[in-house]
Amino acid sequence: MNGALSKSMHPVDVANRIIDSGASEQPNRLTNELSVVVDDVAVVESFSHCWALRTEEGLVCVDTSNAHTGTAVVEALRGWTDEPFHTLIYTHGHLDHVGGSGAFAADANRNGISRPRVVAHKALPVRLERYRATAGWNLAINRRQFGGVKAGVGLIGAGENFVPRDVVEPDTTYDEIAHVSVGGRDLELHHARGETDDHTWVWDPRDRSVYSGDFVLWVFPNAGNPQKVQRYPVEWAAALRKMIAIGAEQVYPAHGLPIVGRQRVELVLGDIAEALEFLADSTLALMNEGATIDDIIHSVRVPEHLRDQPWLVPQYDEPEFVVRNIYRQFGGWWDGNPANLKPAPEAAVAAEVVALVGSVDLLVNRALALADEDDVRLACHLIEMAVTAEPESESAQKARADIYWLRRAAERSLMSKGIYTAAARESEAALLENRVVE
Ligand SMILES: [Zn+2]
Repeated sequence: MNGALSKSMHPVDVANRIIDSGASEQPNRLTNELSVVVDDVAVVESFSHCWALRTEEGLVCVDTSNAHTGTAVVEALRGWTDEPFHTLIYTHGHLDHVGGSGAFAADANRNGISRPRVVAHKALPVRLERYRATAGWNLAINRRQFGGVKAGVGLIGAGENFVPRDVVEPDTTYDEIAHVSVGGRDLELHHARGETDDHTWVWDPRDRSVYSGDFVLWVFPNAGNPQKVQRYPVEWAAALRKMIAIGAEQVYPAHGLPIVGRQRVELVLGDIAEALEFLADSTLALMNEGATIDDIIHSVRVPEHLRDQPWLVPQYDEPEFVVRNIYRQFGGWWDGNPANLKPAPEAAVAAEVVALVGSVDLLVNRALALADEDDVRLACHLIEMAVTAEPESESAQKARADIYWLRRAAERSLMSKGIYTAAARESEAALLENRVVE
């Protein structure tokens, strides 16, 4: 992608420039290139990064990237050192962090030595089990999230097996805190819930470095994802506060760029924590006043001074979804609308509305007019009713595709773009099918 460019730019230099000047540069570089960050510590920037520490007994690696990039990551590490992989630490069980572990085991195999020890939080194997039980669901939502409805488009997972067959299961798990000593390096593993329930961040007291996994993403925290299980914004913020309090002078994340220097650590981690705390406090305050999720999502916003920070860009997840996850965590799934507690089928509601309006085309025309007037949120409700009432209506499907392409163009987050793209493509596929039938 930007390989030639990134080769000449050390990740710490890029990070310092962005943090010190607020420059908007792409912090996530999927180059599979290795950079030495400080003596004996290197990073391979990839789909998720692999951080490697050289010790007297071999390498400790934090995360392994994904199934498709694991081999390239191991090759990059081998260009740096041929010392054996002694220990792998998984920050959490997302497949872009553990999916590359097979390549690390294969490297040990090639060298005729035993595969590295794998350390993780005790909830991580439970997560992998859940992924195996819901492989079809996970493949489908990832295809949608990453932009399409066509098979094979998703970036994560391996064929029909969501969890690649060669993923190495942890052989050492821990509960709240673990001490890992390898070749003169003493590391502390801290558990905290955030993006996941099985998350670990690593503290190296000698270097005063934190390996933060996905607690720092260089985009707005992935704490709201509409298609995934519960995330933990409040605990996420608390973990960031703890990293600051423990005295971190470097923070090495699994996505984006290294944060080097106490002031930069305080600024970036402090901003992320503040954004999450603000969303949580505001949402809980409104819930305590009896507000519904409808009231809350239309009133809670990230404070102005945090909105344009380069490490809080809503490019992947977005604040509105985080608000929903806070509501779900503390309030359950009911939205406060009594009709939605035990609803009629959506098709019955839509048919009733179409009958009242007089025809599906009137509804379609109003949807298009609203989209034209930039009220695309409202337009989507009407067009969904139109196609739900009459899925075979060509004008409804055509308008639906147009409206969702329009909506996609106005969105910033990958999650919204992915879902709206999938909807547009679904209508295009329905139109194509109708034509074949005719
Ligand atoms: Zn990640």
